[in-house]
Amino acid sequence: MHPDSLAVHAGDEPAQEPSSLVPPIYQTSVFTFQDLRTAADVTGGQAAGYSYARIGQPNADMFGAAVAALEGAPAAAVAASGMGAILAALVAVRDGRAVAAADEVYGGSVALVESFLRPLGVECLRFDAHDPRSVPAEAGAVLVESSSNPLGRLCDIAALADEAHRHGARLVVDNTFATPYLCRPLLHGADLVVHSVTKFLAGHGDVTLGAVAGSRERVQACQTALTTFGATPDPFACWLALRGLRTFGVRMERAVANTRGIAQYLAGHAAVQRVHHASVPGHADRELAQRFLSGEGPAILAFDLDGEERAARFIERLELIRYAPSLGDVSTIVLHPATTSHRQLTPAQQGRLGILPGTIRLSVGIERLEDLIAELEHALG
Ligand code: PLP
Repeated sequence: MHPDSLAVHAGDEPAQEPSSLVPPIYQTSVFTFQDLRTAADVTGGQAAGYSYARIGQPNADMFGAAVAALEGAPAAAVAASGMGAILAALVAVRDGRAVAAADEVYGGSVALVESFLRPLGVECLRFDAHDPRSVPAEAGAVLVESSSNPLGRLCDIAALADEAHRHGARLVVDNTFATPYLCRPLLHGADLVVHSVTKFLAGHGDVTLGAVAGSRERVQACQTALTTFGATPDPFACWLALRGLRTFGVRMERAVANTRGIAQYLAGHAAVQRVHHASVPGHADRELAQRFLSGEGPAILAFDLDGEERAARFIERLELIRYAPSLGDVSTIVLHPATTSHRQLTPAQQGRLGILPGTIRLSVGIERLEDLIAELEHALG
């Protein structure tokens, strides 16, 4: 089935009486047993079934099945947040060895590695995802993002997987920005894919959730970590995410097309110094986009205005597009990375990543393109 159709149907429950078209919400923290034997078998893992919601519950399994189908994975576990999924993935595959995170990963992932795992005694290393040979040989788990924040830089997932495997490490790819609509890292050799479901997969800005997809064995290891940390999800969040996922194909089709249109418009605007999106001629990663994305670029772009003052004025003039520290929603959202998502970096560190005081990030939604362009024209004017 085409992924757009999978998004509509994957995770459906088998028909039972009463058979509802939309899955029910199993809003319970615990399940009951008919007899001692079933209780012993289910709690001991010898029989399928549910016992205690932190260990497993039907709404998480339904949503996990859908994520697995979209990523082309045998299995997926659902976490209480994207950060829960990343923590579980790194801990589950590192095999007692170091954790290596690419220089350009999400700030929360940097904090996880540098300020949480390192003080616990885990050796934590950083490397350049654009140079696969820089993957540290000591690492057991290697974390990269399929499309970076905020400049949409891409990496050679296949070469990174080869290099990680050469050292006996596992490659974990955060696919939050590109999404399986554009990129399926497991098909290029990655061992686990993680998501902040909070973003494009759920898509409506009303749920915090994460997921990790991969082989049954690795996902089981992640599930054990999630259950142990208590980073497992609430049933209603899983239900909301599955409902959001049903429109994933049409949302992404519109958002990706809008982004291309906006990138083209901004690239021709006199006030815009540079547009960062793989659809724009001259972008550093156009060749990687052809190899790893099934489209020209994600539904996120960045562009540079002349300094922070211009960026502030632009954002203040926006009416339809709102300023919020998230992405992947049906509505277009703007962010100023230098003062929010990347504020923990010095201006020199930001500059090394290509983030300038005038850089603006747009997470493009599903409004009509002409309305978005009219809004941008007004704010840039
Ligand atoms: N990964 C990426 C690329 C993100 O942008 C984020 C959050 O913005 C996360 C992971 C963390 O996800 P969550 O906020 O759902 O924990």
